[in-house]
Amino acid sequence: MNHVLKAFSAGIDGVFIGGCRFNECNYATHGNYHALNMVLLGKRLIKHIGLNPERLRLEVMSGSEGNLFAEVVDDFVRRIRALGPIGNGEGLEEGRWKAGLAETTKLVPYIKLTMREKLASRQENPEEWDALFTDEEIEELFRHVPAYYIDPAKCQACMTCARRCPAGAIISAKNQIHVIDQEKCIKCGTCLDACPPRFGAVRKIVGEPVPPPLPEGERTIVRKNKEVSNL
Ligand code: SF4
Ligand code: SF4
Repeated sequence: MNHVLKAFSAGIDGVFIGGCRFNECNYATHGNYHALNMVLLGKRLIKHIGLNPERLRLEVMSGSEGNLFAEVVDDFVRRIRALGPIGNGEGLEEGRWKAGLAETTKLVPYIKLTMREKLASRQENPEEWDALFTDEEIEELFRHVPAYYIDPAKCQACMTCARRCPAGAIISAKNQIHVIDQEKCIKCGTCLDACPPRFGAVRKIVGEPVPPPLPEGERTIVRKNKEVSNL
């Protein structure tokens, strides 16, 4: 998903993904079904941004179908030319669709986590593909983007969350209450799972403002009424 969104962010007008025919995959994982689900989700996401979902297309065929490959690629190129340059063709200001793509790219881990069951499903009936994800579902998804917050009263500076955060979004130092940099956070929820239950310092916040971070000079952990020096 990231690669597709990055391609559009770079100004590519259309992304074509070619895969093997369904049920002909040599691997037990049948990755082409997963690719299909990702493309169906990707189409809804770019539509949510205001871009035409036809700019993203998946076609499956076998390695011996060179003629078919040429046909579908010609058709794709024709359609993309008819749509015009990305954003421009949709009558959108460049800043608007690029900001939408940047925000969506940042939220990919959260989106994948939320949609994990559908993404793992095997969609064998083409008539049901369109209904796998809906516009309403995507609206809902963006309306309920969570934030993660470390409760300063509970954090014990064990550093577990900071070591596990894939985005380097947790400001961490020995004996210092940890703080999540909301700008860097990609909403993956790893810190919530990583924080030991006996501390339970990470909170998931939906639909409420995130409390401001503790000022830098006030983050030193106080243990047994004694301030611990920051070594
Ligand atoms: S949710 Fe937690 S672990 Fe995930 S990016 Fe944000 S701060 Fe890091
Ligand atoms: S895992 Fe929990 S207690 Fe440990 S540093 Fe992170 S928020 Fe604080």
